[in-house]
Amino acid sequence: MVSMPFEVDWQAVLLDLLNSSPGCDALGDDQLADRADARTWLRGHGGTHVKDVDGVRAVRDDLQRVVRREADVSVLRPYLVNVRQVPDVGAHGLGWSLKADWIACVVLAWGELERDMPGRLRPCANEECRLFLIDHSRAGTARWCSMSGCGNRMKARRHYSRTRRD
Ligand SMILES: [Zn+2]
Repeated sequence: MVSMPFEVDWQAVLLDLLNSSPGCDALGDDQLADRADARTWLRGHGGTHVKDVDGVRAVRDDLQRVVRREADVSVLRPYLVNVRQVPDVGAHGLGWSLKADWIACVVLAWGELERDMPGRLRPCANEECRLFLIDHSRAGTARWCSMSGCGNRMKARRHYSRTRRD
């Protein structure tokens, strides 16, 4: 159990975790496939001390299902049981700090995102793609996990079907 380290960008960690499994055939491997891979991935995402690699894979699967609306949000409840607000007194009087493990921090990031930017975390609109995006566009119209990947691919496909029809 550690304090939620605020120097970590938890929304970015959440998105990277969701996208750490293969996107579509052409797009890479499971980055948490074995323990060595998972350790390397976790080190780069504020999780150096995380031992429970199975738990990391489990929360990834559950978050993916929740964002795809294949599972109810209640599946995330078990990951939050050990989150605590802990009071302490210091020079500025009474303060509270959040104690949560890495897995809980990722779920908390999902919760903050749902509260602050509802619906902006979503699956890529390419049906063959298994990746996710956080839509930061003002209009809320972003559709692809990346413009260079699915964005271009879908544009090319639309162009192709248009020219075929003509
Ligand atoms: Zn995509």
